[in-house]
Amino acid sequence: MTDNTPAVNLPGGIRWLDTCYPMEQRHHHISPYLLDGPEGPVLVEAGSLEHQNALIECIEALVGPEGIDAAILSHYDLPHVANARKFYEIWDYDLYTSFSGTSANPETLGMGPSTGCMHDETRKICGRTITFPWPPLVDAAHTMWIYDHEAKAMFTGDMGHYHASDACRSVIDDPADMVSVDDIRSYNEDALPFTKYLDPAKMGDALVELREQYDLEIWAPVHGNPIIGSSLIESYHERYVEAITLTRDAAIP
Ligand SMILES: [Zn+2]
Ligand SMILES: [Zn+2]
Repeated sequence: MTDNTPAVNLPGGIRWLDTCYPMEQRHHHISPYLLDGPEGPVLVEAGSLEHQNALIECIEALVGPEGIDAAILSHYDLPHVANARKFYEIWDYDLYTSFSGTSANPETLGMGPSTGCMHDETRKICGRTITFPWPPLVDAAHTMWIYDHEAKAMFTGDMGHYHASDACRSVIDDPADMVSVDDIRSYNEDALPFTKYLDPAKMGDALVELREQYDLEIWAPVHGNPIIGSSLIESYHERYVEAITLTRDAAIP
């Protein structure tokens, strides 16, 4: 976080906990989100170990020392789950995960009990209605995305982009500020190298299908700046397809 304001407000009772890593030329977000539930605060993703103290401080500044009432984790990679155990030590909350039936069961990993969520299932969590869509792009087979019906927000596990050092807290709500193809492409090539094998046309179709199935007003990547408004989300998806086309074309000998 780059100034003293705890988190960035998004529409629909969502706070973006904008923690990021500075890299050599650009920055990489690993940013959980906090939903304001009628029955208590819900954390989407748990953030990375490096940001543990900053996240605890930020969450307590926002909701008080009782902390969160629930957390939802998209998949078991460390930058998404590493703080779950520490948060259990200080707050009493219910954990919802996609991987409770896998070899990385949260209980086995020392995170304590959790509720397993199924793809396409819808449930109420702290009074908010949440569905767990099949993502069009994953790096672990059990990964689920998290869709909040109240805010029409899609939280996307690993699909994301880098940002410039002056854009750590930028919310994209103007076409002039749209994420560049290069920031999507370079993130993919570092974090998700298998994107060179993707069929850009199929990826484009999957994103169209997702927009038909879900009313999207907020696109909320864990690894990237949030994007607000359905037309900007559509243009982001177009850039995403452009980025994977460039990656694929460069990989063809
Ligand atoms: Zn990740
Ligand atoms: Zn940054």
